[in-house]
Amino acid sequence: MDMKKQYDYLIVGSGLYGCVFAHEATNRGKSCLVIDKRGHTGGNVYCEEMEGINVHKYGAHIFHTNSREIWDYVNSFVEFNRYTNSPVANYNGELYNLPFNMNTFYQLWKVKTPAEARAMIKSQVDENKVSNPANLEEQALSLVGTDIYEKLIKGYTEKQWGRSATELPAFIIKRLPVRFTYDNNYFNDKYQGIPIGGYNKLTDGLLAGIDVRLGVDYFESRADWDAMAAQVVFTGNIDQYYDYRFGRLEYRSLRFEHTIYNEENHQGNAVVNYTTRDIPYTRTIEHKHFEFGSQPKTVVTREYPEEWTPDKEAYYPVNDARNTEIFNRYRALADRESNVIFGGRLAEYKYYDMHQIIGSALKKVSVHFDQTTTEYGNQ
Ligand code: FAD
Ligand code: UDP
Repeated sequence: MDMKKQYDYLIVGSGLYGCVFAHEATNRGKSCLVIDKRGHTGGNVYCEEMEGINVHKYGAHIFHTNSREIWDYVNSFVEFNRYTNSPVANYNGELYNLPFNMNTFYQLWKVKTPAEARAMIKSQVDENKVSNPANLEEQALSLVGTDIYEKLIKGYTEKQWGRSATELPAFIIKRLPVRFTYDNNYFNDKYQGIPIGGYNKLTDGLLAGIDVRLGVDYFESRADWDAMAAQVVFTGNIDQYYDYRFGRLEYRSLRFEHTIYNEENHQGNAVVNYTTRDIPYTRTIEHKHFEFGSQPKTVVTREYPEEWTPDKEAYYPVNDARNTEIFNRYRALADRESNVIFGGRLAEYKYYDMHQIIGSALKKVSVHFDQTTTEYGNQ
């Protein structure tokens, strides 16, 4: 270790990326200081207890992965329950199962067999004649046809992203399965669940014994923080790290409105999506259902998408052509840094899920410390 430096690593951000890196570095005998501008650790997976319920403070988080290694890794810190995400979509008061499956097709068209459903979708896909989908709208129309696009995708997508579906990348909609079985599981992955007792058990476990300073913004005294450690792991906004020299990246923000109801069960499901544009929120989350709670009261959160401004939290990168081009210029600078590692959803400007963040951090650790390139299965 550099004699003048107090720590081997300064880790900016205590989200899952920062937690995994800090844990693995500590296990390899390195000293770490983790800082976060928020008043708590855990980043966006942080849970706050209300009425005895673990409330997912920054939006619903369901863990899912295909990687046995990543599943075993998280389960070594906290046991996961058997929760399976099965959202219900509300379109103008009509209810449909998600993701798009035989239940949805029956609700839409009264078709009962996979052959009837496939024929219905094919006739709608053929009408649209999209050969090479170049954006989210074309991708959706060529996957599921007009009815599903108009009722369950267009309104939700345009309010979530604040842009027309024709300006959004196609990959966003490929996150959702389309299947011809009566199966409402939102994910195709082998492993899925919620940590019993909430996500803080996972992030507290990862950070056990590691120095943490909260409520401090790296950029407010950057030189002082840099002076404390030999290397920096940065998980904040990459454009801010470089003083916006190539322009600002766009993010999508959210506003969460939490309501306590004096009843045991308010909506009967953890997640209800509102797919029409005239309802300003995208989804309502009843948190107790993530852990099969039976508390006398319940907490429901409405999620309102918002345009991001620097005073708001950046939740989603907007991976359209313009932002991708700007990001690539920042990444070229980042690749040339010898003492700074950039990782996580904001620094890599990538629409990563939790398991992918953990995979990315573990991969970085294996290259950085062990000079190996471990791949974490088909995540
Ligand atoms: P973050 O969790 O964002 O952590 C970054 C941390 O850095 C923050 O705590 C921030 O305060 C801190 N920070 C930033 N800048 C500074 C600074 N200048 N100084 C000090 N600290 C700083 N994934 C799933 O797998 N399943 C889901 O169901 C799911 N649902 C989601 C729902 C929503 C609404 C959102 C927004 C994300 C969801 N995700 C989900 C994705 C998941 O949240 C991320 O993959 C993961 O939490 C990202 O971890 P991270 O460490 O990269 O970033
Ligand atoms: N989506 C949609 N209708 C829905 C749910 C999702 O059109 O009812 C689209 C929307 O574009 C969204 C994307 O699918 O941004 C990915 O959805 P996911 O549930 O994975 O979003 P996240 O949980 O990451 O916000």
